[in-house]
Amino acid sequence: MDVKKPFEIARETLKQLTVRKMAPTPANYQMIYSEVAGVATELPFPADRLRDIAQALPTKTPGQQKQRGLLDSAIRQLNWDGVKNALMAYGGFSPPADTSPFAGTQVSIAPPVETLSSTVNAPALTADFFEQIARLIEYALPALGTDDERFAEQTQLLLTAMRQPEPDVLAVKLMLSNFGNRLSFAAEDQAEIKVTLLKLLHLIIENIGELSLDDRWLTGQIEALMTASSPPLSLRRLDDVERRLKDVIFKQTEAKGRALEAQEEMRLMLSTFIERLSQMTESTSAYHGKMEENARLIEQAKTMADIAPVLKEVVGATRTMAHDSLTARDELRGMREKAQTTEAELVKLHQELDRVSALARHDPLTGALNRKGLDEALDREISNVRRKESPLCMAMLDIDNFKTLNDTLGHATGDAALTHLATVTREAMRPQDTLARYGGEEFVILLPDTPLDKGIEAMTRLQRELTKRFFLAGTEKILITFSAGVAQMAGNESGLETIKRADQAMYLAKRSGKNRVLGS
Ligand code: GH3
Ligand code: MG
Ligand code: MG
Repeated sequence: MDVKKPFEIARETLKQLTVRKMAPTPANYQMIYSEVAGVATELPFPADRLRDIAQALPTKTPGQQKQRGLLDSAIRQLNWDGVKNALMAYGGFSPPADTSPFAGTQVSIAPPVETLSSTVNAPALTADFFEQIARLIEYALPALGTDDERFAEQTQLLLTAMRQPEPDVLAVKLMLSNFGNRLSFAAEDQAEIKVTLLKLLHLIIENIGELSLDDRWLTGQIEALMTASSPPLSLRRLDDVERRLKDVIFKQTEAKGRALEAQEEMRLMLSTFIERLSQMTESTSAYHGKMEENARLIEQAKTMADIAPVLKEVVGATRTMAHDSLTARDELRGMREKAQTTEAELVKLHQELDRVSALARHDPLTGALNRKGLDEALDREISNVRRKESPLCMAMLDIDNFKTLNDTLGHATGDAALTHLATVTREAMRPQDTLARYGGEEFVILLPDTPLDKGIEAMTRLQRELTKRFFLAGTEKILITFSAGVAQMAGNESGLETIKRADQAMYLAKRSGKNRVLGS
């Protein structure tokens, strides 16, 4: 083959630079020149660029500082192998050399998932390395709660995949990435649980301050807190207890107000009684005085004519005295009866407080069933399902951003919005569907004879209905949206388990942007 002359090579190089639309830099010129001349390119070692990269790496731990030292010295020596080993050590992979600065268990920075696939064949990705990640996950698990069964399942699958003798690196990478997503949700949940626990503690303390009527309340609440704070903790349970406590505090404050009123009435009656008594004593002593005077007049009387007016006086005073006594007796009897009624009312009040939450089946605000009503409806629907072998769907619905609505328009408007939602829901659903208020702004809907796809459809229809029927706060039109999860009851499931699945789907609907319906 022809050997090109230098000026031909130079001309061809310039031509290639233009054809390939490359910038005419010295490096590009040299690369194309070598290619045209058919000689190996030896690009200059980019020490400055590498130094920039080295400086951007963290040096927080002693391990990182050591690796940074190794990287700097490799750059100084223009040693590509040294640079490669130092960077691998930074990434948490053992370099092939036995002088690994990453010997031991310290991982300075987590390997980005992308690095895993690009080093699939690197000896650093040993079973040992996977075993370490697996153990790390196992150590972290207890801190993340056991509420989310799917998460637990996924984690087990991931652990098994990592512990295979020859792990499928790409599959593990995908699973790790999913695990990472759910892990971040779980960690958020844990942080929220802590905040909620603290709020509960404040509520309890506040409530103890309000307690003065009856110790049974205190015992009940302490028990509820004990139950709620014993593992497994879940946001849902804490939420529930928080709401119950708020209810109890409200009822108790109301009862206390009424009891105080009754006490005040008793006190008033007592003071009237004492007043009456002293009046009676007064009138009795006036009577006695008058009688003594009359007795004296009678003694001094010489004729019957003298006695007659005195007798008249005596009869008059006695009559007044008798009348006064009768009035006082009637008044006292009246007061005693009133006192007994008030006392009976107090007793009734206490009994009523004990019973009221246990007996009611309907939520007074929205008219939907309450939790007790829901339990009964569930029993009824489940026995129907078993008998008819028909599908039963349950939907959990939670209003979006309800706190903001309360905060901006006031609690009373919030209440009206809840009632509006319940009304629209009842009208949009079939007569055989059941609406229950599960908590503050959460509702459960039971949909008998409904498979999952139809259940999701029904909830989507309700969403549309709400966009057509605005909630009016005064003259302002407010669009209420909700997030919902729908689950179809499985043969071996309890009603509560199905609701729990619907609830988890609802949580995911919230997490994925709200105003949507997800099936479980
Ligand atoms: P998200 O979209 O995530 O569900 O946010 P949110 O604001 O709806 O949910 P969050 O749980 O933070 O707030 C629910 C609020 O509902 C807090 C509470 O004050 C309010 N709430 C609960 N029960 C009632 C009620 O009976 N009446 C009124 N007006 N508000 C209530
Ligand atoms: Mg809620
Ligand atoms: Mg809400």
